[in-house]
Amino acid sequence: VLPSADSTNGSDRAPPDMAAMQAKFASIQQKYTEEASKRFRSDGLAQYVDLQDAKDARIHSLGKDPWVDHAVLNAKTPAVKDGGRYKFVILGGGYGGLIAAVKLIEAGLVNGPDDLRIIEAGGGYGGTWYWNRYPGLHCDVESYIYMPLLEETGYVPKQKYATGLELREHAERIATKWDLHDKALFRSEVTDCRWSDEEEVWNVAVTENRGPEEGERKLNIQANYFFVLSGVLTIPHVPKVPGLENLGGSMFHTSRWDYGTTGGSQEDQNLTGLEGKRVGIIGTGATAIQVVPKLAKFAKEVYVFQRTPSSVSWRGQKETDLEEWQIANKKGWQRERRYNWVTYLNNCAPPEQVNMVGCGWTEAPAYCAIIGSPNFGIIEPTPEKIGEHVGGLLMLDLPRAEKARARIDEIVKDPETAKALKPWYPVWCKRPTFSDEYLQAFNLPHVHLVDTDGKGIDSATSTGLVVQGKEYPLDILVLSTGYRSPAYGGLNPAKRTGINVFGRGGKSFDDKWDAQGASTLHGVISRGFPNLFFGPTAQFGQSPNNTETLDIAAEHMTHFIKKAEEKVGGLAVIDPTVEAEEGWAMEAVKRAANLAALSVCTPGYTTSEGEFNKPNQDPAEMMKSARMGIWSEGILSFMKVLEEYRAGDLVGVDVTPRR
Ligand code: FAD
Ligand code: NDP
Repeated sequence: VLPSADSTNGSDRAPPDMAAMQAKFASIQQKYTEEASKRFRSDGLAQYVDLQDAKDARIHSLGKDPWVDHAVLNAKTPAVKDGGRYKFVILGGGYGGLIAAVKLIEAGLVNGPDDLRIIEAGGGYGGTWYWNRYPGLHCDVESYIYMPLLEETGYVPKQKYATGLELREHAERIATKWDLHDKALFRSEVTDCRWSDEEEVWNVAVTENRGPEEGERKLNIQANYFFVLSGVLTIPHVPKVPGLENLGGSMFHTSRWDYGTTGGSQEDQNLTGLEGKRVGIIGTGATAIQVVPKLAKFAKEVYVFQRTPSSVSWRGQKETDLEEWQIANKKGWQRERRYNWVTYLNNCAPPEQVNMVGCGWTEAPAYCAIIGSPNFGIIEPTPEKIGEHVGGLLMLDLPRAEKARARIDEIVKDPETAKALKPWYPVWCKRPTFSDEYLQAFNLPHVHLVDTDGKGIDSATSTGLVVQGKEYPLDILVLSTGYRSPAYGGLNPAKRTGINVFGRGGKSFDDKWDAQGASTLHGVISRGFPNLFFGPTAQFGQSPNNTETLDIAAEHMTHFIKKAEEKVGGLAVIDPTVEAEEGWAMEAVKRAANLAALSVCTPGYTTSEGEFNKPNQDPAEMMKSARMGIWSEGILSFMKVLEEYRAGDLVGVDVTPRR
């Protein structure tokens, strides 16, 4: 029985030709399965090496910070003293760390000069937008809802999709407004943190890299409250392509763009260094979609090495019209716009509602497969109900998917190239992309798609890359090959960050997570690790607008501390109870079947390169996977749950005054 078009669709967006869609449904599903099965690999995540862990010196060096100015930073008095004690220490100077810092300040929790410090591995603020400076970089969620704290800073983005430079400058703007410049220790990595049962503080080990002249400085600092906000797409990785380390010419990862080779800069995107050069790029994810048109503009030849095509919808970039932009005068406008946007992705937009953002995302209601929807709530974990649910989602996505594929035929002139560029998987398997330049670039005579039919690069020689026995000689290779999966280590935030965390009684965070799976209260705190707050993934609400989830998380973390300090009249020790944590884990387990839609996915970072899709009959392992569930009714419902909780008296949390 075919799922009905509206089995998961509460809105009126069913397209008129649903009969035709239903007729195609079975054959398209078969195609999805065939294409996904070409791509499954037994090595899963092990097919990659993180740059920071690479044994080969050349590959390892690709991870170095190209932007840090050691001379300027060395001339400053370090913001953090060895042996210093601070009330709040935040790991991470990206938007996540900045939002948390601002919330703590605005809540009146930061008062003394030693109350707040931020430890950041990069040489400045911005996180993603500090590291990534590749040509063409923009946010893919509208800047008016993506850029944090617009209302509070009074800043109006220049375009619907802000450039990477504007996004980095905004991080600096936030730091300036809330006086955070002298609170950060840059080019410094947290390696370990250990809770002291005697002193009731976190001991945090930090290594500051003071550059080639001064070397490393090791510091041990203390924090009453420690935040791990290390991001989800932070650790660049590359595939283990045999011989890659010996490739001649220049090679770099997109997150560390080498303007020395390409010419230009983040401010001046004239890549004159590419003139006369044969440039290859491995990868066709969201980054490559933005980079390829820029390479095409300057290089002599461009070879785009594709394993799986992205889905590329229209973008609709435009300048901000300040006359029209009256919205910024209304209090609460950003949240209102964010909520309006996300209802389309949660597939629950009321038909009469005006679509404020009106972007390609709002045409992807089936994205609710991985962020939830109030329409389907909790799915019963029976084969019938799961089949109906997943089938309904595939059907819901079909009009969008068909439109995306038809768009390729409309734009790309060469039929073989057009065919190879077609994505055969539903929208929730890989981040959908939006561009009015990428597909068009393949009409240029010097831009060549090298489709590997799902297999990837065979090997590298000293002169080029080999695919299916053919060598492609190159002068420059761009590695647009992504990051350590956010799901690495079963969504364990310590493993994802690469730090060792030891809580009460010296217990390791990894041991706890490995033994019982995700264990949190509201996705941000975990029993036995008092006063430790971490960026949420498992057991939290989800949105593809990352700053929205970071904002919700920071508000909740701040609430825990504010309320606890009010209760005890000073510094507090905050630890969820076992019952509350297990109760919350069971909420995730109840909702685990909702993520069954991932079972039809082609591999990618969302499924930990297919590792999630491996059949597993071990009940203990199945339970661990189930605990990774998210709030399946969607982010707006999740926010209500948190708001209701906050109206109470820190139920399920042990709060004691710090001794
Ligand atoms: P990050 O920005 O990654 O910042 C975390 C920081 O922690 C990093 O600077 C890192 O150096 C630091 N850090 C990590 N470990 C340590 C350690 N041990 N010690 C010290 N410091 C450490 N999301 C969207 O919603 N919309 C978009 O348009 C969008 N575009 C993106 C484009 C790119 C190229 C990438 C890679 C991601 C994009 N994302 C987007 C996701 C993006 O990462 C988030 O939107 C957001 O910027 C994350 O902020 P964050 O602070 O949580 O993490
Ligand atoms: P991705 O992980 O999305 O893409 C990596 C690419 O490398 C994929 O196309 C992958 O193919 C390919 N690849 C990996 N190994 C091989 C191999 N051995 N041979 C050939 N190809 C290979 O990384 P991105 O940097 O593109 O994006 C990461 C995330 O960052 C996005 O999903 C998005 O969330 C965010 N982002 C957002 C942007 C925005 O628009 N604002 C821009 C950039 C990134 P395969 O698909 O087969 O695995």
